[in-house]
Formats: sequence, structure tokens, C-alpha cells
Amino acid sequence: MTLMKLENISFTYETEPVLRDLSLSIQEQDFIGLIGPNGSGKSTLLKIMGAIMKPDSGSVRFKESPVAKINKKLFAQSVSWIPQDHPMVFPFKVSEIVLMGRHPYLSPLSFESEEDFEITRRAMETTMTSQFADRYFNEISGGEKQRVMIASALAQRPEMMLLDEPTAALDLKYQIQILNILKNLNTAHNMTLIMAMHDLNLAASFCNRLILLDEGQIVRDGTPEQVLEKDILERVYGIEIDLDAKDGNIRVHPVIEN
Ligand code: ADP
Ligand code: MG
Repeated sequence: MTLMKLENISFTYETEPVLRDLSLSIQEQDFIGLIGPNGSGKSTLLKIMGAIMKPDSGSVRFKESPVAKINKKLFAQSVSWIPQDHPMVFPFKVSEIVLMGRHPYLSPLSFESEEDFEITRRAMETTMTSQFADRYFNEISGGEKQRVMIASALAQRPEMMLLDEPTAALDLKYQIQILNILKNLNTAHNMTLIMAMHDLNLAASFCNRLILLDEGQIVRDGTPEQVLEKDILERVYGIEIDLDAKDGNIRVHPVIEN
């Protein structure tokens, strides 16, 4: 089933178009790696999908309904967006941040119910964050922070999560840990995921679909084997690239001249 459909999306911040007449369908249970060089429009596209920003032209539909017409709170019960960096100025505890994920379900004057706390607890279990529930967000590591943000997004009980470089600035162990959590959500909980990502090899190992953006346009969309092609990667990234395959997994290597 098609969950989200974007048609002829264009967007400009200042003068140069950042997204150009872009169309795309997301199917239920897709696990999409959104790849492409810096500045190709990945974060902008995720913000438009998450209704953080409106496109200048074109339409975004979620299950047939135009996103522009869906009530913000209702939309947040279906789609959650996790930004790349999360400045947290106030000293919140980890458990409080995860509980904030329940916000779309609360009416202005109501308090959290037992159910909200139970959902929060389960979201923390899934993301292995229960052990620092009472610590302050500012006082945990980058990998732990990222897991807390995923827990908070999960507490929203979305059908679809948009993640902007969830593994950026993490060491290899934490990268794999986050990707395993996401993979498990995708396969065991039918979560539809789209994440911007720079590591092409990790994207190819974990995602079932890659979308390659270049200068605000989709240049490839398909399985890792279909998208990670030598000529196109060399053109888009402007470097020489070797490809090989190990255990059926395609591997990308930049050619480094000494
Ligand atoms: P990516 O996430 O692929 O690196 P972005 O969507 O962040 O790409 O940015 C695409 C282009 O839009 C870049 O050229 C960037 O400089 C520009 N851009 C991003 N955010 C803004 C903004 N708030 N104001 C003006 N230009 C922006
Ligand atoms: Mg970005």
C-alpha cells in the first residue's frame, strides 16, 4: 500500500531551487536510505515529508489525504520526524523527553495516563534507553541521545519515521546499534522508515530501497544493486569509485590515490 506520495515537489529557500519537480511514492514497510552529496536536498525533502515545511509547488499526500489539510496533531500521530541535531537547552530528564512523544495524543488540559507511561516505557525498552531514564539528556553520550530521540519518536506511535542522518557523528558500534534498532522496527513492527545517510555501504546493508538525490532531483530509486552503480556514483560524487560484492552485498570503495 502507498503510504506517502509526493508529486512534482519544488522548493527554493532563496534563489536557487533546492528541490526540482520531484516525485516519489513510499510504500508501507519500506526502509529507505536517502543518499546523495551534501547540499543535494536530503534534509529539505525530509522536512517537507514531515510537514515541517510546505513545498512551493506540488503535493504531498499521506494515505490519499493532502498533508497540507491534515491537522498537525493528527499528522504527528502517524509520521514522526527526527532532526539531525537536537539542541536541548533546558535540563530535561531522558524519561521526560520520551514522554513528550505522547504530546500529539494529549488534549491541552489533560495529564498523561497510565497508558502514556506504559507506551513510554516500551519505547525506552525497544531503544535500550531504560537504564538512563532518570539521567539528564545533556549528560548522556551522542549515541544514547540519538536512541532517546528515537524512543521519543516511537512514543508518538507513528506508522512512518523520517530520520535525518541518525548515525552521524557516532562510532561504528553505535551506528550499527541504531541501525539494528531501526531494522527491527521495520521487520518486526512494520514501521516504514526513511533516513538520510552518508555511509553508502551501511545504507546498502540495512535498507531495502535507496533513493539517490543530486541537486534536488532523484537520479536513482531502487534496490541497492540498482542504485549503487559505478558511473552514476562517480558522476554524482565527483570521485573515482570501485564496486565489489561480498556475500551478495554490494560494497562501494572510493579510489584513493597515493
Ligand atoms: P542535504 O541535507 O542533502 O545536505 P539540504 O536540504 O540541507 O541538503 O540543503 C540543500 C540546499 O539548500 C543547500 O544548498 C543548502 O545550503 C540550502 N539550504 C538548506 N537550508 C537552508 C536555509 N534554511 N536557508 C537557505 N538555504 C538553505
Ligand atoms: Mg542534511
